[in-house]
Amino acid sequence: MSDDGTGNGKRWRAATELVHGGTARSPYGEMSETLYLTQGFSYDTAEAAEARFKGDDPGFIYSRFSNPTVAMFEDRMALYEGAEAARATASGMAAVLAALMCQLSAGDHVIAHRAMFSSCDYIVTELLPRFGVPSTLIDGTKLENWEKAIRPETKLIFLETPTNPTLEVIDIAAVAEIARRHGISFVVDNVFATPLYQKPLALGADIVVYSATKHIDGHGRCLGGIVLSDREFIEDVLFNFLRQTGPSMSPFNAWVLLKSLETLEVRVERQTRTAAKIADLLADNPAVSRVIYPGRPDHPQAEIIARQMTAGSTLITFEVPGGKAAAFKLCNALRLIKISNNLGDAKSIIAHPATTTHQRLTDEARAEFGITDGMLRLSIGLEDAEDLAEDLEAALRVLG
Ligand SMILES: *Cc1c(COP(=O)(O)O)cnc(C)c1O
Repeated sequence: MSDDGTGNGKRWRAATELVHGGTARSPYGEMSETLYLTQGFSYDTAEAAEARFKGDDPGFIYSRFSNPTVAMFEDRMALYEGAEAARATASGMAAVLAALMCQLSAGDHVIAHRAMFSSCDYIVTELLPRFGVPSTLIDGTKLENWEKAIRPETKLIFLETPTNPTLEVIDIAAVAEIARRHGISFVVDNVFATPLYQKPLALGADIVVYSATKHIDGHGRCLGGIVLSDREFIEDVLFNFLRQTGPSMSPFNAWVLLKSLETLEVRVERQTRTAAKIADLLADNPAVSRVIYPGRPDHPQAEIIARQMTAGSTLITFEVPGGKAAAFKLCNALRLIKISNNLGDAKSIIAHPATTTHQRLTDEARAEFGITDGMLRLSIGLEDAEDLAEDLEAALRVLG
């Protein structure tokens, strides 16, 4: 377990780290990363067990704490993200919950941008307040709102950008500056941007979280999550919370995700190229009333996107006139694009947020977040762009 996969600690460029980073080979020198499907580890002597538990010997103890295959995934992600350290979790929501809970106590206060992944909204607006951590939701696209919402007890800022499903963008560097000035911990959910297109830590955020279920797996096979930050936060604050509470990533899932990282850039770049074409095509189609795509110059926050993201997105949000009936008719007329709620998958997926992912919000909240009944979220996969275009155009013709 000594080979770092790349030769004695040399740092390679990011795309190379996605293929080799974090590799810890067994004495057999296997090419493909080993799946250590084990709950725990044995010790040669009682003294060795004692030293391991005392922390004098850095080896593995129990897979709820850490596991060699999971550690390879964590190290590869940290190298790619440019983070000092990372810890993987069973799902994206486990990552979000752990990143928040491990540093909050009753009496603290949290501020978040109002448009969030629905389960993140549950954690911030329903769960944390039950444990004495009230939260304030704001329109975080207006920078002055962050400053206004800060109280002496504000401990943490949480946001997602681009947001789901309206693909709104928040200025990470500007919020980071406010957070730093007030000594507030700043957590970014970077799922929609992917680790390719946005580096929140470099922009000043303290902690980044991902649902690895999305682009990182990219084939709709397994759940996973990861939290990345500096070594002090990961090892001294987060790790104890994780090892005591147990939302650990399965070594099997870590192995699947490790192999997926090898193709992350090729997949996401290809999906983004296709998405840009499809976004333009939808914008030109008279049956579509609105297209929101972070790669288009008509995105309302194109200026921030140009500053903080290196490319658009694999996701497109668009609207058809005629509300839910028209949106459903369009979905049902598609033959290739699947109706589902994952994103970042190799297979293209359409979702109707108002009746699925954002169903639990009140009508008023949906209206406030701009989630209309005619709105659809399209996640572009790896199919031929022409086939996707034909599928969408045929379905849009059905709308008349
Ligand atoms: C999917 C998702 C999550 C939750 O991840 P799971 O792996 O489904 O638990 C959190 N935030 C965002 C933005 C997501 O898209």
